[in-house]
Amino acid sequence: MSSNSILITGAGSGIGQGVAIYLAKAGYRIIATDLSIQDAETTVSAIQSAGGEAIAYAMNVTDEGATQQVFDAEPKIIGVINNAGIQHIDPIEDFPKDKWSALVNILLVGPAITTGIAVKKMRAQGYGRIVNIGSIHGLVASPFKSAYISAKHGLLGLSKTVALETADCDITINTICPAYVKTPLVEKQIADQARTRGLTQDQVIQEVMLKPMPKKAFISFEELGGTCEYLLSPAAKNMTGQTLVLDGGWTCT
Ligand code: NAD
Repeated sequence: MSSNSILITGAGSGIGQGVAIYLAKAGYRIIATDLSIQDAETTVSAIQSAGGEAIAYAMNVTDEGATQQVFDAEPKIIGVINNAGIQHIDPIEDFPKDKWSALVNILLVGPAITTGIAVKKMRAQGYGRIVNIGSIHGLVASPFKSAYISAKHGLLGLSKTVALETADCDITINTICPAYVKTPLVEKQIADQARTRGLTQDQVIQEVMLKPMPKKAFISFEELGGTCEYLLSPAAKNMTGQTLVLDGGWTCT
């Protein structure tokens, strides 16, 4: 069993899968967890067929017992990437409140559960790195995403607080805030926003998603993987509670 294991939540699709494959190529053993065990296994197969090391677990980030079981099954976990997420788009007056609660549970309570369990294990190990996949929407707002944006803003508060609580040991926690990444979550948003705003899908990409980004490009898995690799390394030992913004210049405007 390798001693450089990284646990990734929501590793069966999109950013979680892309970062898992990137970090496996960089030599990490990947603990791929997802709500869907089949999707987590797909990521593991992709890693193994490229010669990397990985294991899959079903893990719902809102289920503390299931999360604890995964941590108990693994002797050492040096890094955790809180990535699992969903989106829902509606104006506030029509936003179903059960959806609001579900988003906050998955995007904010989930990382708090995983981080709490991880910090306990990392303290015993004497080392740990926690990386949150936040969002540009942790820093700025866009219409019709009230639950997502509220949760992602909250994630920065969680990160800063845990950074202070773990300042006495070699544990760090940081949040990467990307603008749009072409994943299944965003493909669905393109269709939903086209409906909500009365635009074509191409108009949503050009006039809504890429419009506020001076660099006019989706963020890639390689950029996210490379940023995670740095944050996971001993070189980042004094970077904690920070927000790393990959937004093509969005927040400069
Ligand atoms: P995705 O839909 O492709 O993947 C999300 C994964 O999370 C899926 O595999 C899904 O099964 C899993 N998941 C959902 N609920 C879960 C739960 N309760 N427990 C465990 N796993 C669960 O989405 P993505 O675009 O790759 O998004 C991943 C993360 O990146 C999210 O936190 C999202 O907010 C963030 N993000 C995405 C973008 C983007 O443009 N795609 C931009 C900024 C931030």
